[in-house]
Amino acid sequence: MNWALAGLVYACAYVAIILALGEREYARLLVGTVALLIPPIAPIIVMLSRRGDWRGRQAVFWAAIGAWPMLWLIGQIGWSVDEVFRAVPLPWFKWHIILQLCGSALPLIALVAWPHGGTQDETAVTAAVDIAVLVFLTGFLYWSLIIAPGMDPPHSAAALRALATIGPTVRLAALSGLLWAMWKAEGSPWAVVYQRLALGMALAFVVLVGLSLATVAGQYQTGSPSDIGWMLPFWFAAWAMAAAPASAHEAQGPIGTAPIERSSLAVLFAAILAVPVIGYGSRYLVPAAEPIERMREIATAGTLVCGVALVMVRLVVERRSLESASQRVRLLATACEQAGELIMVLRQNRIQYANDAFCQATGYSREELLELPPMTLVAAESKPDIPALREQLRKRHVVRATTVMARKDGSRFEAAWSAAPIVDAAGRVTDVVSVIRDVTDDARLRQQLVRSERLSAIGELVSGVAHEINNPLQSVIGTVELLLGESHETRVRDDLERARFEAGRAGRIIRNLLAFVRRSPAERLLSDLNEIVQSTLSVREYELAQSNIKLQQEYGLNLPVVLANRDEIQQVVLNLVMNAQYAMVDAHGRGTLTVRTFTVADQAAVEVQDDGPGVAPELAGRIFEPFFTTKSIGTGTGLGLALAFGIVNAHGGTLELVPTDRGACFRLTLPGAGFPGPVQVH
Ligand code: ADP
Repeated sequence: MNWALAGLVYACAYVAIILALGEREYARLLVGTVALLIPPIAPIIVMLSRRGDWRGRQAVFWAAIGAWPMLWLIGQIGWSVDEVFRAVPLPWFKWHIILQLCGSALPLIALVAWPHGGTQDETAVTAAVDIAVLVFLTGFLYWSLIIAPGMDPPHSAAALRALATIGPTVRLAALSGLLWAMWKAEGSPWAVVYQRLALGMALAFVVLVGLSLATVAGQYQTGSPSDIGWMLPFWFAAWAMAAAPASAHEAQGPIGTAPIERSSLAVLFAAILAVPVIGYGSRYLVPAAEPIERMREIATAGTLVCGVALVMVRLVVERRSLESASQRVRLLATACEQAGELIMVLRQNRIQYANDAFCQATGYSREELLELPPMTLVAAESKPDIPALREQLRKRHVVRATTVMARKDGSRFEAAWSAAPIVDAAGRVTDVVSVIRDVTDDARLRQQLVRSERLSAIGELVSGVAHEINNPLQSVIGTVELLLGESHETRVRDDLERARFEAGRAGRIIRNLLAFVRRSPAERLLSDLNEIVQSTLSVREYELAQSNIKLQQEYGLNLPVVLANRDEIQQVVLNLVMNAQYAMVDAHGRGTLTVRTFTVADQAAVEVQDDGPGVAPELAGRIFEPFFTTKSIGTGTGLGLALAFGIVNAHGGTLELVPTDRGACFRLTLPGAGFPGPVQVH
């Protein structure tokens, strides 16, 4: 419903009726009295119907705005009773005028709640107390300086002039305050609210200037066209209330959307101190007759007591809200610090906060991070993605992305992060909070999973093919053996020998393949990995020395006992050693082979590291595939690592190529059998 339009129609209709009534003063009085009682009801209705929509300071603001028509209406009823039923002509200097004057000051005083700054629940009560103190003081000032002197006939003309001046002045002050708030809230829905209230005030100011001039000239009567100056702001207030945004569910605490409104206690104290100064001072400035003077004194004392009581209430409330806010701050700070994820808050392209995990992961100290341009943390390859992500944040979307981040030492890591904009009550993005996770390990695990799935698929295929080939191959070998048993000329015999050798080689490959896919866990015993490694190396020691390879052995103490097939594990270690030997000799005819055993997370592990050329990153994902080899034809079968992988997998362990700064490093782990080592059972 457009309340402003309704108000304008109402005001026009009122002016038309008043003009039509002409000189019939009593009729105008009755029409004016009734017509003045209706407009304040409009904002009261809207406020009551929307009361559940607002919280915190926003609720305080609307309560104060709602108190304005209420106070005014009560005052107007008092005025009407005096004027209509008691025949008191224009009862300016009565108690009810104070209510109306205080009410009219509320659109200005309500701005203390500063509602577009957010709900700020912690300081809502203090804002309410501040408003109450200011309303009290306003009432006191009106009483001491205008109403009380006005009751004394010698001063009543001067008091009326003051009253006539104060009406438009208060509207002008409210108008200025609202325009200022409108400017401050620019861009937020609150700007419209202030604008509507300001429009009503502007109209009131213009009309009331005329009304005041008529009052001073003694030409005002209830039922004048200028009465619309009282009426219009109420309709515009209802219009503003209808447009007011409901309170959002804002974050509370240190990452709140707006700074906590600073205390204006000093101002309040000064205002309270002003009460006795004005109260007793006015006795000398505008002395009045005895009963009035007495009433003035009572009002001064009463206001002082109420003012002091209110300030004390405010102090208590403020301390409580500060305590609870600081408790929440501590809780949130601890939560951020102890969270496993990396947390960072950005404000205007500067790092505002970073938790310990973030500092550790990036290698920067907190002080360094606060000075660091955030883009330094993004690795070169991910920098082009950033503008698009920024744009998303600017549009207030939560962004999820994976980027490569750079540490202080230049190393990088893959990070999955989600960033959320923090929006203030005016709808502006003030900060961006990012929660980041180092996903390097996740990526490696994913790769490993893909690889073992690929291997198992190949395994099934290989098993079928191996069986198919094995039978005809056995018959070829048998036939060649039979033929060799007969006498042949040398050339034929040589051919048959070659056929037998090659068929035998093919047979070995098939057997290896079948061994790869058919792993039986039956022959496993509790074993000591140190012992298996030691005995395997002793077999190769001589060959290694012959190939100019220095062997370094480091054995970990108290390795967990493993449940393993000794021969198979020996085969795996041997394969790793031979691969390393081949790689080093092939690359530079010499090298150092380091074999070390250790315990890692209840598992026994052995690492075989060489200083050869290493495995190129693009091949790293394929070396465990059957038939993958970089060796020349006839030298390698490409089955060694595939077989080793199958064996280790069947033991519930892992075999992987681990990153190293030189050569290649293979790590084999076997799960502990649950016995504290070393138990020599084999
Ligand atoms: P093969 O030894 O018959 O080639 P493997 O499955 O044992 O088969 O090895 C597959 C491939 O892995 C090798 O051809 C080689 O390219 C690579 N590789 C294995 N061990 C090493 C190592 N220590 N250094 C460099 N490359 C290696």
